[in-house]
Amino acid sequence: MRMIDLIERKRDGGELSTAEIDWFVRHYTADQIPDYQASAFMMAVYLRGMNRRETTDLTLAMARSGDQLDLHDVAPFVVDKHSSGGVGDKTTLVVQPLVAACGVPVGKMSGRGLGSSGGTLDKMESIAGWSPHLSLAQFKQQLAEIGLVLAGQTAELAPADGKLYALRDVTGTVANTSLIAASIMSKKLAAGADAIVLDVKTGSGAFMPTVEAARDLARIMVDIGLDAGRKMVALISDMNQPLGTAVGNALEVKEAVATLQGQGSPHLWAHSQAVAAQMLRLAGKAGSIEEAKEKLDKVRANGQALSKFRQMVAAQGGDVAQVDEVSKLPQARFVEPLLAPRSGTVAAINTTEIGWAVVRLGGGRLAKGDKIDHAVGLLLPVKIGDKVEEGNEIGMIHANDEKKLAAAQTEIVASITWSHEPVKPLPHIYATIE
Ligand code: URA
Repeated sequence: MRMIDLIERKRDGGELSTAEIDWFVRHYTADQIPDYQASAFMMAVYLRGMNRRETTDLTLAMARSGDQLDLHDVAPFVVDKHSSGGVGDKTTLVVQPLVAACGVPVGKMSGRGLGSSGGTLDKMESIAGWSPHLSLAQFKQQLAEIGLVLAGQTAELAPADGKLYALRDVTGTVANTSLIAASIMSKKLAAGADAIVLDVKTGSGAFMPTVEAARDLARIMVDIGLDAGRKMVALISDMNQPLGTAVGNALEVKEAVATLQGQGSPHLWAHSQAVAAQMLRLAGKAGSIEEAKEKLDKVRANGQALSKFRQMVAAQGGDVAQVDEVSKLPQARFVEPLLAPRSGTVAAINTTEIGWAVVRLGGGRLAKGDKIDHAVGLLLPVKIGDKVEEGNEIGMIHANDEKKLAAAQTEIVASITWSHEPVKPLPHIYATIE
Protein backbone atom coordinates (compact mmCIF):
# COMPACT_ATOMS: atom_id res chain seq x y z
CA MET A 1 0.00 0.00 0.00
CA ARG A 2 1.06 3.60 -0.54
CA MET A 3 0.09 6.39 1.82
CA ILE A 4 -0.49 8.81 -1.03
CA ASP A 5 -3.27 6.56 -2.40
CA LEU A 6 -5.08 6.58 0.95
CA ILE A 7 -4.74 10.35 1.26
CA GLU A 8 -6.04 10.94 -2.24
CA ARG A 9 -8.98 8.56 -1.87
CA LYS A 10 -10.09 10.19 1.36
CA ARG A 11 -9.46 13.66 -0.03
CA ASP A 12 -11.84 12.81 -2.88
CA GLY A 13 -14.54 11.54 -0.51
CA GLY A 14 -13.89 7.81 -0.94
CA GLU A 15 -14.05 5.01 1.60
CA LEU A 16 -11.08 3.15 3.09
CA SER A 17 -11.04 -0.58 3.71
CA THR A 18 -10.43 -2.20 7.11
CA ALA A 19 -7.02 -3.40 5.86
CA GLU A 20 -6.03 0.10 4.68
CA ILE A 21 -6.97 1.72 7.99
CA ASP A 22 -5.10 -0.97 9.88
CA TRP A 23 -2.07 -0.51 7.61
CA PHE A 24 -2.04 3.26 8.20
CA VAL A 25 -2.26 2.87 11.99
CA ARG A 26 0.45 0.20 12.17
CA HIS A 27 2.89 2.02 9.93
CA TYR A 28 2.34 5.48 11.45
CA THR A 29 2.83 4.04 14.94
CA ALA A 30 6.07 2.39 13.78
CA ASP A 31 7.34 5.75 12.41
CA GLN A 32 7.17 4.40 8.87
CA ILE A 33 4.81 7.15 7.69
CA PRO A 34 6.06 10.73 8.09
CA ASP A 35 4.08 13.37 10.01
CA TYR A 36 3.48 15.39 6.83
CA GLN A 37 1.58 12.53 5.20
CA ALA A 38 -0.28 11.71 8.41
CA SER A 39 -1.22 15.41 8.70
CA ALA A 40 -2.58 15.49 5.16
CA PHE A 41 -4.50 12.30 5.87
CA MET A 42 -5.96 13.71 9.10
CA MET A 43 -7.07 16.81 7.22
CA ALA A 44 -8.70 14.69 4.52
CA VAL A 45 -10.58 12.72 7.19
CA TYR A 46 -11.45 15.95 9.01
CA LEU A 47 -12.99 17.42 5.85
CA ARG A 48 -14.56 14.27 4.37
CA GLY A 49 -15.44 12.29 7.51
CA MET A 50 -15.52 8.54 8.03
CA ASN A 51 -18.55 6.26 8.08
CA ARG A 52 -19.49 4.12 11.08
CA ARG A 53 -17.50 1.09 9.85
CA GLU A 54 -14.37 3.12 9.11
CA THR A 55 -14.63 4.81 12.53
CA THR A 56 -14.89 1.47 14.32
CA ASP A 57 -11.96 0.11 12.29
CA LEU A 58 -9.86 3.15 13.15
CA THR A 59 -10.76 2.84 16.85
CA LEU A 60 -9.95 -0.86 17.05
CA ALA A 61 -6.71 -0.50 15.08
CA MET A 62 -5.61 2.30 17.42
CA ALA A 63 -6.61 0.28 20.51
CA ARG A 64 -4.51 -2.64 19.16
CA SER A 65 -1.53 -0.40 18.41
CA GLY A 66 -0.02 -1.17 21.83
CA ASP A 67 -0.70 -3.02 25.06
CA GLN A 68 -4.25 -3.85 26.06
CA LEU A 69 -4.52 -3.82 29.81
CA ASP A 70 -6.26 -6.33 31.96
CA LEU A 71 -6.58 -4.92 35.47
CA HIS A 72 -8.68 -7.71 36.93
CA ASP A 73 -5.81 -9.16 38.93
CA VAL A 74 -5.84 -5.99 41.08
CA ALA A 75 -9.42 -4.75 40.81
CA PRO A 76 -12.52 -6.86 40.15
CA PHE A 77 -14.41 -4.09 38.33
CA VAL A 78 -12.81 -0.94 36.99
CA VAL A 79 -14.68 2.20 35.97
CA ASP A 80 -13.32 5.01 33.88
CA LYS A 81 -14.53 8.36 32.63
CA HIS A 82 -13.54 10.57 29.76
CA SER A 83 -14.45 14.07 28.72
CA SER A 84 -14.48 15.08 25.08
CA GLY A 85 -12.70 18.26 26.15
CA GLY A 86 -13.68 21.70 27.31
CA VAL A 87 -12.58 24.91 28.95
CA GLY A 88 -12.14 24.85 32.72
CA ASP A 89 -12.97 21.16 32.74
CA LYS A 90 -11.34 19.87 35.90
CA THR A 91 -14.07 17.27 36.48
CA THR A 92 -11.62 14.33 36.67
CA LEU A 93 -9.79 15.90 39.60
CA VAL A 94 -13.05 15.94 41.58
CA VAL A 95 -14.77 12.82 40.26
CA GLN A 96 -11.93 10.32 40.56
CA PRO A 97 -11.33 10.72 44.32
CA LEU A 98 -15.08 10.84 44.99
CA VAL A 99 -15.66 7.53 43.24
CA ALA A 100 -12.56 5.91 44.75
CA ALA A 101 -13.69 7.06 48.20
CA CYS A 102 -16.96 5.17 47.61
CA GLY A 103 -14.92 1.98 47.14
CA VAL A 104 -14.82 1.76 43.34
CA PRO A 105 -11.27 1.56 41.95
CA VAL A 106 -10.51 4.19 39.33
CA GLY A 107 -7.41 3.77 37.23
CA LYS A 108 -7.38 6.51 34.68
CA MET A 109 -5.09 7.50 31.85
CA SER A 110 -5.50 11.15 31.00
CA GLY A 111 -4.25 13.46 28.31
CA ARG A 112 -2.71 16.87 27.81
CA GLY A 113 -4.28 20.05 26.48
CA LEU A 114 -5.66 19.88 22.98
CA GLY A 115 -6.33 23.12 21.07
CA SER A 116 -8.19 25.55 23.32
CA SER A 117 -9.15 22.77 25.71
CA GLY A 118 -7.03 22.11 28.80
CA GLY A 119 -5.56 18.74 29.77
CA THR A 120 -5.76 16.92 33.09
CA LEU A 121 -2.05 16.05 33.17
CA ASP A 122 -1.03 19.66 32.57
CA LYS A 123 -3.30 20.71 35.44
CA MET A 124 -1.94 18.09 37.83
CA GLU A 125 1.66 18.99 36.96
CA SER A 126 1.01 22.34 38.68
CA ILE A 127 1.68 20.32 41.85
CA ALA A 128 5.46 20.18 42.37
CA GLY A 129 6.91 16.72 41.84
CA TRP A 130 3.65 15.09 40.73
CA SER A 131 4.30 12.71 37.87
CA PRO A 132 1.97 10.96 35.44
CA HIS A 133 4.75 8.61 34.32
CA LEU A 134 3.98 5.23 35.82
CA SER A 135 5.02 1.83 34.58
CA LEU A 136 2.24 -0.70 34.21
CA ALA A 137 3.47 -2.44 37.36
CA GLN A 138 3.36 0.85 39.31
CA PHE A 139 -0.09 1.63 37.90
CA LYS A 140 -1.43 -1.71 39.06
CA GLN A 141 0.24 -1.53 42.45
CA GLN A 142 -1.21 1.92 43.16
CA LEU A 143 -4.65 0.82 41.96
CA ALA A 144 -4.51 -2.15 44.34
CA GLU A 145 -3.18 -0.08 47.25
CA ILE A 146 -5.23 3.11 47.15
CA GLY A 147 -7.82 2.46 44.44
CA LEU A 148 -6.90 5.63 42.60
CA VAL A 149 -4.38 6.27 39.82
CA LEU A 150 -4.12 9.17 37.39
CA ALA A 151 -1.48 8.39 34.81
CA GLY A 152 -0.37 9.67 31.47
CA GLN A 153 -1.04 7.57 28.50
CA THR A 154 2.00 5.30 28.48
CA ALA A 155 3.92 4.84 25.27
CA GLU A 156 2.67 1.25 25.33
CA LEU A 157 -1.04 2.10 25.52
CA ALA A 158 -2.74 3.12 22.27
CA PRO A 159 0.54 4.68 21.03
CA ALA A 160 -1.18 5.49 17.73
CA ASP A 161 -3.42 7.91 19.60
CA GLY A 162 -0.48 9.44 21.45
CA LYS A 163 1.13 10.34 18.12
CA LEU A 164 -2.05 11.36 16.32
CA TYR A 165 -3.34 13.44 19.25
CA ALA A 166 -0.18 15.57 19.32
CA LEU A 167 -0.31 15.97 15.55
CA ARG A 168 -4.01 16.91 15.43
CA ASP A 169 -3.51 19.46 18.18
CA VAL A 170 -1.27 21.55 15.94
CA THR A 171 -2.79 20.87 12.50
CA GLY A 172 -6.38 22.06 12.99
CA THR A 173 -7.80 18.55 12.83
CA VAL A 174 -9.27 18.04 16.27
CA ALA A 175 -13.00 18.67 15.91
CA ASN A 176 -14.11 15.73 13.81
CA THR A 177 -16.55 13.12 15.13
CA SER A 178 -14.69 10.07 13.83
CA LEU A 179 -11.27 11.28 14.94
CA ILE A 180 -12.49 12.22 18.41
CA ALA A 181 -14.45 8.96 18.79
CA ALA A 182 -11.46 6.84 17.72
CA SER A 183 -9.08 8.83 19.91
CA ILE A 184 -11.21 8.55 23.04
CA MET A 185 -12.48 5.01 22.60
CA SER A 186 -9.14 3.49 21.54
CA LYS A 187 -7.61 4.67 24.81
CA LYS A 188 -10.59 3.61 26.88
CA LEU A 189 -10.78 0.14 25.34
CA ALA A 190 -7.03 -0.43 25.65
CA ALA A 191 -7.04 0.77 29.27
CA GLY A 192 -9.22 -2.16 30.26
CA ALA A 193 -12.13 -0.50 32.10
CA ASP A 194 -15.28 -2.59 32.52
CA ALA A 195 -17.51 0.49 32.54
CA ILE A 196 -16.97 3.86 30.93
CA VAL A 197 -18.80 7.14 31.51
CA LEU A 198 -18.35 9.59 28.66
CA ASP A 199 -18.79 13.29 29.27
CA VAL A 200 -19.54 14.67 25.83
CA LYS A 201 -19.41 18.44 25.80
CA THR A 202 -21.45 20.67 23.57
CA GLY A 203 -21.46 24.41 23.02
CA SER A 204 -19.20 27.33 22.29
CA GLY A 205 -16.23 25.82 24.14
CA ALA A 206 -16.58 22.26 22.91
CA PHE A 207 -15.40 20.47 19.81
CA MET A 208 -19.08 19.64 19.18
CA PRO A 209 -20.92 22.95 18.74
CA THR A 210 -24.50 21.62 18.87
CA VAL A 211 -26.41 19.12 21.00
CA GLU A 212 -27.11 17.12 17.81
CA ALA A 213 -23.40 16.86 16.93
CA ALA A 214 -22.62 15.83 20.51
CA ARG A 215 -25.38 13.20 20.36
CA ASP A 216 -23.86 11.74 17.18
CA LEU A 217 -20.44 11.56 18.83
CA ALA A 218 -21.90 10.07 22.01
CA ARG A 219 -23.94 7.50 20.10
CA ILE A 220 -21.00 6.21 18.07
CA MET A 221 -18.72 6.00 21.12
CA VAL A 222 -21.35 4.23 23.24
CA ASP A 223 -22.00 1.75 20.40
CA ILE A 224 -18.29 1.03 19.92
CA GLY A 225 -17.96 0.40 23.68
CA LEU A 226 -21.06 -1.81 23.87
CA ASP A 227 -19.81 -3.84 20.88
CA ALA A 228 -16.58 -4.35 22.81
CA GLY A 229 -18.54 -5.70 25.79
CA ARG A 230 -18.18 -2.67 28.09
CA LYS A 231 -20.90 -1.00 30.17
CA MET A 232 -21.38 2.46 28.70
CA VAL A 233 -23.19 5.70 29.34
CA ALA A 234 -22.65 9.15 27.86
CA LEU A 235 -23.81 12.45 29.28
CA ILE A 236 -24.24 15.36 26.89
CA SER A 237 -23.17 18.29 29.01
CA ASP A 238 -23.03 22.02 28.56
CA MET A 239 -19.85 23.82 27.48
CA ASN A 240 -21.32 27.19 26.48
CA GLN A 241 -19.37 28.70 29.38
CA PRO A 242 -16.29 27.55 31.29
CA LEU A 243 -17.02 24.75 33.75
CA GLY A 244 -16.92 26.17 37.27
CA THR A 245 -14.92 29.33 37.77
CA ALA A 246 -11.24 28.72 36.99
CA VAL A 247 -9.50 28.30 33.64
CA GLY A 248 -5.75 27.67 33.82
CA ASN A 249 -3.77 24.87 35.38
CA ALA A 250 -2.94 25.75 39.02
CA LEU A 251 -6.15 27.79 39.33
CA GLU A 252 -8.14 24.73 38.30
CA VAL A 253 -6.33 22.52 40.82
CA LYS A 254 -7.24 25.05 43.50
CA GLU A 255 -10.87 24.98 42.44
CA ALA A 256 -10.95 21.18 42.40
CA VAL A 257 -9.47 21.02 45.91
CA ALA A 258 -11.99 23.61 47.15
CA THR A 259 -14.79 21.55 45.62
CA LEU A 260 -13.57 18.41 47.39
CA GLN A 261 -13.53 20.48 50.59
CA GLY A 262 -17.21 21.31 50.15
CA GLN A 263 -16.62 24.82 48.81
CA GLY A 264 -16.10 25.89 45.22
CA SER A 265 -18.63 26.60 42.54
CA PRO A 266 -22.03 24.83 42.65
CA HIS A 267 -21.77 24.51 38.86
CA LEU A 268 -18.65 22.31 39.11
CA TRP A 269 -20.08 20.30 42.00
CA ALA A 270 -23.38 19.60 40.19
CA HIS A 271 -21.49 18.43 37.13
CA SER A 272 -18.95 16.31 39.01
CA GLN A 273 -21.72 14.69 41.01
CA ALA A 274 -23.65 13.83 37.85
CA VAL A 275 -20.63 12.11 36.27
CA ALA A 276 -19.54 10.35 39.48
CA ALA A 277 -23.10 9.13 40.15
CA GLN A 278 -23.17 7.40 36.76
CA MET A 279 -19.85 5.72 37.55
CA LEU A 280 -21.18 4.41 40.87
CA ARG A 281 -24.37 3.19 39.18
CA LEU A 282 -22.48 1.33 36.43
CA ALA A 283 -20.19 -0.21 39.06
CA GLY A 284 -23.24 -1.49 40.94
CA LYS A 285 -22.48 0.62 44.04
CA ALA A 286 -25.83 2.40 43.85
CA GLY A 287 -29.23 1.32 42.59
CA SER A 288 -30.18 4.79 41.43
CA ILE A 289 -28.63 8.16 40.67
CA GLU A 290 -30.24 9.61 43.83
CA GLU A 291 -28.67 6.93 46.02
CA ALA A 292 -25.31 7.49 44.31
CA LYS A 293 -25.53 11.24 44.92
CA GLU A 294 -26.18 10.65 48.62
CA LYS A 295 -23.04 8.51 48.84
CA LEU A 296 -21.05 11.18 47.05
CA ASP A 297 -22.33 13.92 49.37
CA LYS A 298 -21.22 11.78 52.28
CA VAL A 299 -17.64 11.12 51.14
CA ARG A 300 -17.24 14.79 50.33
CA ALA A 301 -18.61 15.90 53.71
CA ASN A 302 -16.53 13.44 55.77
CA GLY A 303 -13.28 14.32 53.98
CA GLN A 304 -12.70 10.85 52.51
CA ALA A 305 -12.70 12.12 48.92
CA LEU A 306 -10.12 14.82 49.65
CA SER A 307 -8.04 12.27 51.53
CA LYS A 308 -8.05 10.00 48.43
CA PHE A 309 -6.87 12.90 46.31
CA ARG A 310 -4.01 13.56 48.77
CA GLN A 311 -3.05 9.87 48.73
CA MET A 312 -2.89 9.87 44.94
CA VAL A 313 -0.79 13.06 44.88
CA ALA A 314 1.62 11.60 47.44
CA ALA A 315 1.84 8.23 45.70
CA GLN A 316 2.80 9.97 42.45
CA GLY A 317 5.53 12.10 44.00
CA GLY A 318 3.52 15.32 44.42
CA ASP A 319 3.93 17.85 47.21
CA VAL A 320 0.83 17.35 49.39
CA ALA A 321 1.64 20.59 51.22
CA GLN A 322 0.37 22.32 48.07
CA VAL A 323 -2.93 20.48 48.39
CA ASP A 324 -3.25 21.33 52.08
CA GLU A 325 -2.24 24.94 51.45
CA VAL A 326 -3.18 25.80 47.87
CA SER A 327 -1.53 29.24 48.07
CA LYS A 328 1.73 27.25 47.74
CA LEU A 329 0.78 26.29 44.16
CA PRO A 330 2.42 28.38 41.39
CA GLN A 331 1.28 32.01 41.62
CA ALA A 332 1.27 34.55 38.80
CA ARG A 333 3.06 37.90 39.19
CA PHE A 334 0.13 39.99 37.95
CA VAL A 335 -3.40 39.44 39.23
CA GLU A 336 -5.75 42.00 37.73
CA PRO A 337 -9.54 42.34 37.87
CA LEU A 338 -11.66 42.14 34.77
CA LEU A 339 -14.40 44.80 34.70
CA ALA A 340 -17.81 44.67 33.03
CA PRO A 341 -17.68 47.06 30.05
CA ARG A 342 -21.45 47.77 30.34
CA SER A 343 -24.53 46.99 32.40
CA GLY A 344 -26.64 44.05 31.33
CA THR A 345 -27.17 40.31 31.49
CA VAL A 346 -24.55 37.84 30.29
CA ALA A 347 -26.21 36.37 27.20
CA ALA A 348 -23.44 34.27 25.64
CA ILE A 349 -19.77 33.46 26.09
CA ASN A 350 -17.42 32.48 23.30
CA THR A 351 -15.83 29.83 25.47
CA THR A 352 -13.31 28.63 22.88
CA GLU A 353 -11.96 32.19 22.73
CA ILE A 354 -11.61 32.16 26.52
CA GLY A 355 -9.68 28.90 26.19
CA TRP A 356 -7.39 30.42 23.56
CA ALA A 357 -6.89 33.56 25.66
CA VAL A 358 -5.58 31.35 28.47
CA VAL A 359 -3.42 29.36 26.02
CA ARG A 360 -1.89 32.68 24.84
CA LEU A 361 -1.27 33.74 28.44
CA GLY A 362 0.98 30.66 28.49
CA GLY A 363 -1.47 28.19 30.04
CA GLY A 364 -1.50 25.93 26.95
CA ARG A 365 0.54 25.09 23.87
CA LEU A 366 0.54 26.92 20.55
CA ALA A 367 3.08 24.50 19.09
CA LYS A 368 3.95 20.88 19.79
CA GLY A 369 6.25 20.70 22.82
CA ASP A 370 5.64 24.30 24.12
CA LYS A 371 6.30 24.66 27.84
CA ILE A 372 3.26 25.42 30.01
CA ASP A 373 3.08 28.25 32.55
CA HIS A 374 1.02 26.63 35.30
CA ALA A 375 0.33 29.85 37.21
CA VAL A 376 -1.55 31.82 34.57
CA GLY A 377 -5.25 31.81 33.80
CA LEU A 378 -8.57 33.32 34.58
CA LEU A 379 -11.24 33.24 37.26
CA LEU A 380 -14.63 33.95 35.72
CA PRO A 381 -17.40 33.50 38.27
CA VAL A 382 -20.10 35.13 36.11
CA LYS A 383 -22.43 32.77 34.28
CA ILE A 384 -24.90 33.12 31.44
CA GLY A 385 -28.05 34.71 32.90
CA ASP A 386 -26.18 36.80 35.53
CA LYS A 387 -26.95 40.51 35.65
CA VAL A 388 -24.06 42.91 36.25
CA GLU A 389 -23.52 46.66 36.38
CA GLU A 390 -20.94 48.51 34.29
CA GLY A 391 -17.58 48.57 36.11
CA ASN A 392 -18.41 45.58 38.34
CA GLU A 393 -15.63 43.06 38.76
CA ILE A 394 -16.57 40.03 36.68
CA GLY A 395 -13.35 38.08 36.93
CA MET A 396 -9.65 38.06 37.68
CA ILE A 397 -6.76 37.48 35.25
CA HIS A 398 -3.54 35.84 36.44
CA ALA A 399 -0.57 36.59 34.16
CA ASN A 400 3.20 36.60 34.16
CA ASP A 401 3.66 39.10 31.32
CA GLU A 402 2.13 42.59 31.16
CA LYS A 403 1.57 42.58 27.39
CA LYS A 404 -0.13 39.19 27.51
CA LEU A 405 -2.24 40.40 30.44
CA ALA A 406 -3.48 43.40 28.46
CA ALA A 407 -4.23 41.23 25.43
CA ALA A 408 -6.16 38.72 27.56
CA GLN A 409 -8.23 41.51 29.15
CA THR A 410 -9.38 42.68 25.72
CA GLU A 411 -9.94 39.17 24.36
CA ILE A 412 -11.93 37.95 27.35
CA VAL A 413 -14.19 41.01 27.52
CA ALA A 414 -14.77 40.68 23.76
CA SER A 415 -15.80 37.04 24.16
CA ILE A 416 -18.80 37.95 26.33
CA THR A 417 -22.12 39.04 24.77
CA TRP A 418 -24.51 41.19 26.83
CA SER A 419 -28.25 41.67 26.65
CA HIS A 420 -30.79 44.13 28.07
CA GLU A 421 -33.31 41.29 28.38
CA PRO A 422 -33.31 38.58 31.06
CA VAL A 423 -31.50 35.42 29.88
CA LYS A 424 -32.27 31.92 31.19
CA PRO A 425 -29.40 30.06 32.89
CA LEU A 426 -28.25 26.99 30.94
CA PRO A 427 -28.82 23.35 31.94
CA HIS A 428 -25.77 21.29 32.97
CA ILE A 429 -26.85 18.11 31.19
CA TYR A 430 -28.88 17.93 27.96
CA ALA A 431 -29.23 14.18 27.54
CA THR A 432 -28.08 10.78 28.72
CA ILE A 433 -27.20 8.20 26.04
CA GLU A 434 -27.00 4.51 26.92
N1 URA B 1 -10.23 13.97 23.83
C1 URA B 1 -9.50 12.95 23.34
O1 URA B 1 -9.01 12.10 24.06
N2 URA B 1 -9.30 12.91 22.02
C2 URA B 1 -9.81 13.81 21.18
O2 URA B 1 -9.61 13.69 20.01
C3 URA B 1 -10.58 14.87 21.70
C4 URA B 1 -10.79 14.92 23.05
